[in-house]
Amino acid sequence: MIDTKAFGREANRTAGATHEARPLFFIADLHLSEAIPKTVAAFEHFIDVTTNDADSVFILGDLFEFWVGDDMLDPSVTGERAELARRMTKRLHMLSERGIGLYMMHGNRDFLLGPHFMKEAGAMLLPDPFVVTAFGSRIVLAHGDGLCTADRNYQRFRDVARNRFAQNLFLRLPLETRLRISQRMRTNSKDARSTGMSAKYDVTKQAVSALFIGSRTQTMIHGHTHRPAMHREVEGTRWVLPDWELDVDPPRGGYLRIDRNGVRALPL
Ligand code: MN
Repeated sequence: MIDTKAFGREANRTAGATHEARPLFFIADLHLSEAIPKTVAAFEHFIDVTTNDADSVFILGDLFEFWVGDDMLDPSVTGERAELARRMTKRLHMLSERGIGLYMMHGNRDFLLGPHFMKEAGAMLLPDPFVVTAFGSRIVLAHGDGLCTADRNYQRFRDVARNRFAQNLFLRLPLETRLRISQRMRTNSKDARSTGMSAKYDVTKQAVSALFIGSRTQTMIHGHTHRPAMHREVEGTRWVLPDWELDVDPPRGGYLRIDRNGVRALPL
């Protein structure tokens, strides 16, 4: 069913071949943490029930509010955060146990999700951006932070944060130190959630255009901006995934579903 092709990279998905025409599901920006139990519960319901007829589930970044290293999964690490991390990872693994593919992309919060996590979750890590072929059409997937090129400060941070050497230095710090640093960074962070609708924190026309052209696609799916929409751009259709936040009033959340009839944005 799915033919996944990245720029030069290729991943064969053989399990999907057995259930022709099953839909694909896309979510992003759940920002799961122990502080938002209703959002956690909605995610568990999504995994257990909503995805029942899925071929595959794609999580396009920021599933977790933060991730400071796969050692969070070590049973010797105590505390609510680590327990939630382990519970969510087990939940994700239930997808592969049901024959459903799980593909994950890093977000700007959880870019340290590593190989141990992917194994425990039964997930395949996708590079950002990535082109998937679904029901005959090629779709480019991205978290979306790389498209927000008007925010120069953030792009500089992103270059460092995604640097393997810098990541290894960080991961060598004690877990408690990493948690403290990440807490401080989140307090200072100016992302879409805290800054409202400033254009600086949205994608730029130039970056969107470059990605459409570079990937030779006419459909794009991304998250990150927390501005769910379907945009008709010059080069194609751009779907923006909603963030999830069910512990506020009114609650937010939703997903995209692709089947042979095309892409649909659905509420939870
Ligand atoms: Mn994000």
